[in-house]
Amino acid sequence: MLVWMLTSCAPMPAAAERSRVPELAVEDPGFAAVWPAPDAPLDVLPTTAPRGLADTTVYLMAGHANGPGKDGNKGVHGQIEAEVSLWTVEELARRLEALGWFEVIVGRRAGERPSYGARIRHAERVGADVFIELHTDARGPLHVWATDPEGEVYRNDGSPGFSVLYNEGGPLGPERQRLAQEVGNALLATGLPPCPGYVDLYDADPVPGVFIDRRGLMMLRRPTMPSIIIETHNAKDFEESLRWREEGTLDAFASAVAEAVRAYRTVTSEEPTR
Ligand SMILES: [Zn+2]
Repeated sequence: MLVWMLTSCAPMPAAAERSRVPELAVEDPGFAAVWPAPDAPLDVLPTTAPRGLADTTVYLMAGHANGPGKDGNKGVHGQIEAEVSLWTVEELARRLEALGWFEVIVGRRAGERPSYGARIRHAERVGADVFIELHTDARGPLHVWATDPEGEVYRNDGSPGFSVLYNEGGPLGPERQRLAQEVGNALLATGLPPCPGYVDLYDADPVPGVFIDRRGLMMLRRPTMPSIIIETHNAKDFEESLRWREEGTLDAFASAVAEAVRAYRTVTSEEPTR
């Protein structure tokens, strides 16, 4: 309730609409709540000693805001994708910096609207080793559930979950795939569910939640270091959008990104035989 009041000024939804947990949950102690139900747990992954970790610069980019009005989707609570992704990037950056394993560069700050080309040049200039861009998704099927001053607000509670996107083309393709799979596996390990899939836009990678871009997205093919996009959640999902405002979700997410980049950047060497 508190989260709802802090994050939205839209009318309070009916209780029946708000809860995904059936009445059974109260009586049956064996019932496990399923994400994004409010009491579905997530795990923060344990930090591994970063032995063999190469010097690593992580470039974090919030999607959209690449020109006037280019703000991405509008979520079920009226939240704007460019702002949500920026906030999530800043929360992720703070946690990664606290860990101290990587140099962290935030590519877009509040009030900035750099072009995609400028972002790529910036990542090159700072010597980024990995380029991670955050978005939220807006998956259907959508139905109108409210109106705001700008018009109808759409909702879909039937397709929660994360997606990690990469481009398999060119010499960087295998490296992008390896990075995307590390991130996908780490996100799965926290308990976040994978997006069930797409029609046409992306093909499924063997790792659930990881997808191969068929749209030729610029940020997945142009950067000169391995780049991926993480669609953190479905902005049209009522509860999932709220869960991504929670510290616990951001902690789990950051632990997954840290662990994945650590694994990706760890130089493996043969154990000396004695
Ligand atoms: Zn987007």
